[in-house]
Amino acid sequence: MPSPTVSLDVLRTLHRIHKQLTDLKDRRDRGPRQILAGDAGIKQREDELNQVREELKTMRKNIDQQQLQMKSNEQKIKDLDTKLNTAATNREYQILKDQIAADKMANSVLEDEIIEMMEQIDAFRPKIAEAESVVKTTREKVAAGRKTVESQADSILGDIARLEAELKQSEAELPERIRETYLRLVGKKGEDALAAVVDGACSGCYQQVPVNVQANIRLLQPSFCRTCGRLLYIAEEK
Ligand SMILES: [Zn+2]
Repeated sequence: MPSPTVSLDVLRTLHRIHKQLTDLKDRRDRGPRQILAGDAGIKQREDELNQVREELKTMRKNIDQQQLQMKSNEQKIKDLDTKLNTAATNREYQILKDQIAADKMANSVLEDEIIEMMEQIDAFRPKIAEAESVVKTTREKVAAGRKTVESQADSILGDIARLEAELKQSEAELPERIRETYLRLVGKKGEDALAAVVDGACSGCYQQVPVNVQANIRLLQPSFCRTCGRLLYIAEEK
């Protein structure tokens, strides 16, 4: 009984389809990953924006506190002024005077600090505008990326379905004897289940393919690489 043969064209076609399927499935899987990465990027930019907004809030709160402190000092100075008019002794008068001077000095320091903090806020504001603009452009970029991914998804899925049907047809042409081995290899290695023999070497592992094996392949006897186990075919002559 002659061994079943397999046309080199079938093997070449199978390998081409497997390579295309690998590429298409990569693209199919990359799309959702890109979208996820984009969403994570937006979240990160938003966090950065919230952080600078929080910093501004803290700066404003500090100013409010200083202003409150100033007001309370002013009230204190007023009270001390009133007491000054009713001071019973020179010593008491002097103590009150010194206290008023100290509180006025404290307020003058506070005032300088407040002015400095306000200047800091003014210098800080552009950071918020910048962070807002980064969030905006990131959102736009991610939305555009998502649109591209979504618009390509259907055609990628269509191509995959078409190629898988083609694959079934070509696989049906494989001799029964090797189909099981081939399917097991494909399940394990995908497109690396096959390899072309180029210049006498397996293009999967670059090891020399013995001449008698090459001759068998040319006689359409299905043969596997003895080193890497790939199903071999002869590359199309250029
Ligand atoms: Zn090999």
